[in-house]
Amino acid sequence: MTALTAYAPLLNSAVEIGMENGRLTSVTPCDAKTDLCVGPALFDIQVNGYGGETCKLLSPEKKEAIGFITRLLRENGVGWWVPTVCTAAQDVLETAFRLLGEALDEDPDTAASIPGFHLEGPYISPDEGPRGVHEKAVIRPASWDEFQRLQDACGHRILYVTLAPEQENAAEFTRRAVADGVVVSMGHTAMTRDDLARLVDAGATLSTHLGNGAHDRLQRHNNYLWYQLACRKTYASFISDGEHLPAECLYAMLRAKGLDLSLIVSDSVSLGGLPPGRYGSVEKTESGRLCAIGTANLSGSASNLRECVEGAVRLGGISHADAWRLATLQPAKVLGLADRLGLDPGKEATLTLYRYEENGPRIEISETWVAGRKVFDAAVSPRESVRLNNVNLDDI
Ligand SMILES: [Zn+2]
Repeated sequence: MTALTAYAPLLNSAVEIGMENGRLTSVTPCDAKTDLCVGPALFDIQVNGYGGETCKLLSPEKKEAIGFITRLLRENGVGWWVPTVCTAAQDVLETAFRLLGEALDEDPDTAASIPGFHLEGPYISPDEGPRGVHEKAVIRPASWDEFQRLQDACGHRILYVTLAPEQENAAEFTRRAVADGVVVSMGHTAMTRDDLARLVDAGATLSTHLGNGAHDRLQRHNNYLWYQLACRKTYASFISDGEHLPAECLYAMLRAKGLDLSLIVSDSVSLGGLPPGRYGSVEKTESGRLCAIGTANLSGSASNLRECVEGAVRLGGISHADAWRLATLQPAKVLGLADRLGLDPGKEATLTLYRYEENGPRIEISETWVAGRKVFDAAVSPRESVRLNNVNLDDI
């Protein structure tokens, strides 16, 4: 039996937490005075890569990247994350998902932090703007058969799929996916109001990084941003890294959607956590913005979810407790994992202990726990992030 005492912003009280066999046995309010905070561990449901590594694995030697990313994210308070594989040819997707599945089978420590995977595309809009940086030539109609092959390749671990409601077969695909327990999210889309209604009818429950993967210019009243913000049957994820959505936009969108239907994601890519510089066709600026060289296009995010929680407070104007909820309980709810993550007896002891500095704000991670195991301790763990300063830029 392990016990710890800390202030829980989600409960607005100091608590004593008991845990045994990987689960919380008691969460009891107390009047301890402490500046240590505790919450469910951060849960990032959209991570393409981090620390110079990508989740789109192409060769068996790269499998260790998933463990490396896991350890880096744990240093940032992220206990759970969802590797995301975006649009590619079918054989590339099949290889990536097979290797991701093997990476988890071979490494139970890493598997404990990864409840499943995310397929983003290839069933999205080919239009400039909505497609973002997804490769146009391999965008295609939704295919249940192809998706089954990807699920077979990775041991049926794909938790959710992002697709465009207007793509051919999207509604039929969604009905089958939802019946199979897979969450369907709308994104990289140029949908009409009818497309949205059809997909929500079919069972879609989420919008992926709402406000991004969109046209530069839109009809001001009738457009898919308003439709998704107004929809009361779907959640929406937002990238609160300070680069993807201007402060006023994030502030207004969180309030239009409502915090009970919102969550935050990092959408980080391989350059996350690396120093500024030029990496192939992408430049990482001092502020952390990733630009495709020669264009104004963003090329993914370089932030982790801890930084996005700070961003949600600083730019979105929401409270520390609400921001933490949007990065923990809300994503768990959307993906059907709410019975595992939270501060209630019986749930997994998957927790983040941290110090919160109002000024900034700044979050400093002390410990990360996954299912009752302390997987990062700032006081003693060797830090993987130190290695990032020695990355050879030509290797990326
Ligand atoms: Zn995207």
